Amino acid sequence: MTKKIRLTNKIIEDTLVEALGSDVMPIVNFLKSRKNISEFIVAEKTKVEIHQVRNILYRMHNQNLASYKRKKDSKKGYYISYWTFHQKKVKDLLLSMYKEKLGMLKQRLQKEEANKGCFFLCTNACSRLDFEQSTELEFKCPECGTLLQQQDNTRTIDHLRDKIKEIEASM
Ligand SMILES: [Zn+2]
Repeated sequence: MTKKIRLTNKIIEDTLVEALGSDVMPIVNFLKSRKNISEFIVAEKTKVEIHQVRNILYRMHNQNLASYKRKKDSKKGYYISYWTFHQKKVKDLLLSMYKEKLGMLKQRLQKEEANKGCFFLCTNACSRLDFEQSTELEFKCPECGTLLQQQDNTRTIDHLRDKIKEIEASM
């Protein structure tokens, strides 16, 4: 199932930025072709402050994207973490993001299908309500009082179905 996901540089970057934030990229790019790199070297080479480097590395660690070994530095007398980035794990992260998105889209689709042709929109775009909610409000927008207009949600349904297919096809 996961065989379809091919990790290109763009997919790796998009996934990491979406899941962890864009500040991980300098660290990832530096660690990519390396192994067991001291946190201080990471900070020095990426010119990112050491506390920030640690914060980013632990965020990656929480997603199983990086691991570390701690070793006592004989000269300095304290422990230093040596980090490795696990690029292959980006696939698991991407897959779990796909699953989460699918779940949300399917839930939305279910709601749209259950209320087919029965959504009501404010022409000022402040609200979109189902039939029951609209009846309670006597078809007036709860925000601005404008009369609500019935909306044909066929296109929304089609759009959601396409999105779902698209994600399922890439998994
Ligand atoms: Zn309104």
